[in-house]
Amino acid sequence: MRKARVDVAIVGGGPVGLMLACELAIAGVTVSVFERRTQRVAQSRALSLHPRSLEVLALRGLAERFLARGQPLPMGHYAALETRLDFSVLDTAFPFSLFIPQAVTEALLEERALELGVALHRGHHVTGLEQLPDEVRLEGTGGGGTFRTEARYVVGADGARSAVRTLAGIGFPGTEATMSLMLGDFVLTEPLPRPALTVSNPRGLLMVAPLGDGLHHRLVVMAADRMQVPLSEPVTVEELERSVRHIAGTSFGLKSPLWLSRFGNETRQAVAYRTGRVFLAGDAAHVHLPAGGQGLNVGLQDAMNLGWKLVGVLRGLAPEPLLDTYQHERHPVGAALLQNTLSQTALLDAAHPEGQALRAAMSRLLTLPAANRLLAEQISAFDVAYPDPVLPAPPGMEAPAGWVGTRLPDVSLRCEDGATRPLYSLMHEGKWLLLQRPASQGRASPEVPWARWTSTVTAEPAGGPEVLRQWSSVLLRPDGRVGYAARA
Ligand SMILES: Cc1cc2nc3c(=O)[nH]c(=O)nc-3n(C[C@H](O)[C@H](O)[C@H](O)COP(=O)(O)OP(=O)(O)OC[C@H]3O[C@@H](n4cnc5c(N)ncnc54)[C@H](O)[C@@H]3O)c2cc1C
Repeated sequence: MRKARVDVAIVGGGPVGLMLACELAIAGVTVSVFERRTQRVAQSRALSLHPRSLEVLALRGLAERFLARGQPLPMGHYAALETRLDFSVLDTAFPFSLFIPQAVTEALLEERALELGVALHRGHHVTGLEQLPDEVRLEGTGGGGTFRTEARYVVGADGARSAVRTLAGIGFPGTEATMSLMLGDFVLTEPLPRPALTVSNPRGLLMVAPLGDGLHHRLVVMAADRMQVPLSEPVTVEELERSVRHIAGTSFGLKSPLWLSRFGNETRQAVAYRTGRVFLAGDAAHVHLPAGGQGLNVGLQDAMNLGWKLVGVLRGLAPEPLLDTYQHERHPVGAALLQNTLSQTALLDAAHPEGQALRAAMSRLLTLPAANRLLAEQISAFDVAYPDPVLPAPPGMEAPAGWVGTRLPDVSLRCEDGATRPLYSLMHEGKWLLLQRPASQGRASPEVPWARWTSTVTAEPAGGPEVLRQWSSVLLRPDGRVGYAARA
C-alpha cells in the first residue's frame, strides 16, 4: 500500500475539483486530486459559462483561454422562455454566455492545474475516509492496487453521488426525479431560424442550442408522452428524432449523433458543506434539473470561495473559523439555486393549456427591463453578495454596509506609473488587493494584518461604480469581492 501526505486532497477531477486545485496551487498549497476515471470524458453535460464564471476565470488570468475555445451569445435563458435573458445589460467585460462544451472546460482547467504542479491521480477511486483530530485519511483503489493518503483537509468534488458526502455522514435531503428528459448532440443539416431556439406546445418542449464546438447542436426534449420513461433506459436516435419531429414538425435534418442521454429533476442539497476537515463543493453539494445552465457555474464559484480560505488557514495567515464562512456564504447560494431551478421546472413542464398560458405571460413580463435584469442577474450569479465580513476589519477600515461581499467589475485603473491596467490583472496570484486612491496619499496607509497575503496598488479607477470614489482605499478579497474600505 502506498502512502502520501498533502495539505489538501480533492476527490473528483471534474470541473469543480480542478478549479479548486488551481486555486490552491497558485498559493503554493500542496494538493492531490484523485479521479476514478482513467481518461477525461468526451461528452459534455454543461455547455455554457456565464458572466460571473468568466469573471472568476479572468481574476486568475484564464479567461482568454476559454474565450478562444467558445462561442459568445449575448443571452441566457430562464425556463427556455421565448423571451431570452439579455445579458448585454450587465456591467461586466463578459456580457454574454460563452457556449463551450464541458469537456473543453475540463481540459483547460486540467491543463492549468498541471502547469501549476497539481498531482492529478487518474484511475484512483476513493472508497474510505476517516477524520482524525488533525488530518483526514483517505483510501481507495488505483495505481494497480490500493492507495492511502493523509491530508489536512479533504474536499469532495465527486459529483452527485459523492462518496465523500456519504463517508463523512452528511445528509443530502431533497426530492427524487419525477420526470425524464432526453438530450442528443447532433450535426443539423437544416438551418435554424435563430442560434438558440425553443418550441413549446401541448406535445412537449424542445430546446436547441449550439454545443460551442462550431459543429454540433444540443437538442433537449421534454416529450409529454416520454416523461415517465425510466432514467436508466437508453435513448435511441429514433426515439429522440420521433419526439423532436412530433413537437417541432421537423427534426432539423439531425445526423451524426455525438451523445444521447436521459436525465431528470432530482433536487437535493447537502445539509452541511463542511464537517470538521471535510468540505463539499459542486454537484456533491447540490443537484437539480439543469435549467438555465447553472450547475457547473455555481460549482466553479463554490471552488473560488473555498480555495482562498483554505490557503489562508493552511498558510497561517487567517484563523481557522474563516473556513466556516464557506458554509455561511455558499449554502444560501445553493439553496437559491434549487429554488430557481424548481421554479423553472414548473415553467418547463407546461404542456397543459394552463402551463402554455403561464409561459406566455412570463415571456411577456421578461420584455420589461427590470424583469430581465432581475433574472439575468440571478442566472449569471451577479445577484450573489455576502453581507457579513469574513475577518475582523483591519484598523482604520470598515465593512461598508450594502457593498461588502459584492463583486467589482473589471474596472480600468490609472496606476501611479502612468499605465492603465485592468483591476483583475492585479489579482492573478489569488491574494487580497489593497487599492489605494492617489487622493489618499499623505494619510496613513491601512495596516492589513494579513499583509503577506495582500498586494497593494495606488491607482485611480477610470469608470466603474461611483461608490468606488467614495472611499480612499478598498481592500478586495482574493475572489474580487469587496472586503473592507477606508473613508475618503
Ligand atoms: C444534461 C445536463 C446539462 C447540463 N448543462 C449545464 C449547463 O449548461 N451549465 C452548467 O453550468 N451546468 C450544467 N449541467 C451541470 C454540470 O454538468 C454539473 O453541475 C457539473 O458537471 C458539476 O461538476 P462537478 O465537478 O461538481 O462534478 P462532476 O462533473 O460530476 O465531476 C465529479 C468527478 O468526480 C469523480 N468521482 C466520483 N466519485 C469518485 C470517487 N469515489 N473517487 C474518485 N473520483 C470520483 C467522477 O469521475 C467525476 O469526474 C448540466 C448537467 C446535465 C446532466
